[in-house]
Amino acid sequence: MTAGFWTLVILGGVLGLLLAVAAVWLSVAENPLIQRIQEILPGYNCGACGQSGCAGYAEALAANSAAIDLCVPGGAETLQKIAGLLNKEAAAPAGRKIAFVFCQGGVRALNAFAYSGILSCQAAAILQGGYKKCARACLGFGDCQKVCMFGAITISEYGVPRVDLDKCLDCGACLKVCPKKIIQRVPQREMKQVICSNHDTPKTAKAVCAAACISCGRCVKKCPFQAIELKNNLAVIDPDKCTNCGECAGECLTGAIV
Ligand code: SF4
Repeated sequence: MTAGFWTLVILGGVLGLLLAVAAVWLSVAENPLIQRIQEILPGYNCGACGQSGCAGYAEALAANSAAIDLCVPGGAETLQKIAGLLNKEAAAPAGRKIAFVFCQGGVRALNAFAYSGILSCQAAAILQGGYKKCARACLGFGDCQKVCMFGAITISEYGVPRVDLDKCLDCGACLKVCPKKIIQRVPQREMKQVICSNHDTPKTAKAVCAAACISCGRCVKKCPFQAIELKNNLAVIDPDKCTNCGECAGECLTGAIV
């Protein structure tokens, strides 16, 4: 009994010693720079930088294997601090952008067939590109809303997502998840938008969605600043020329300009 007890004590002591030696031998000294960069990053872990999260981006920055301007949600302040810490030149901020959903069809966009599958835009898009007659129509299951970690997306009364300009931090998650590619980044400043992505001919566009741009060109003619042109059957507004005067919106018969 006593001998067995002491054998166990000695065995435990030897194993403990071995574990302690292994812990020291196998430990990797943490780079203090990683810790300092992590303190600067906002901690959203949104993945906008292309890494799995802020810790991954901090490691990549410390290893000099990533550009310093990839944390878009962190904004200019984060960029300046990282540039200062890493002694690098930060380019002048290009101006903030936000996500914008270029569709307002929703219930006004006609269905091509009845869909009763998984309630997800990505799943619905697998079946013939989606159940809407318009090939670029929002499918309305809110994949973008679910993925937005800033709560910036709500669903409108027509069943299409809308982005809250004050909450969007331009992480790009909604753009990536939208199977119809109708969410784009736009400059965050007051300007009109043609809230449609339909490239059908006027006759077809009219037939598939009551809210579609029908490429009639009325807005093009009305714009005093030549900021609008028709591209592939869709009116497109040049952000550098648009002054948000609103002349075009008043002229649009389908309400496709907001
Ligand atoms: S007026 Fe409206 S429907 Fe006509 S081209 Fe302009 S945006 Fe499209």
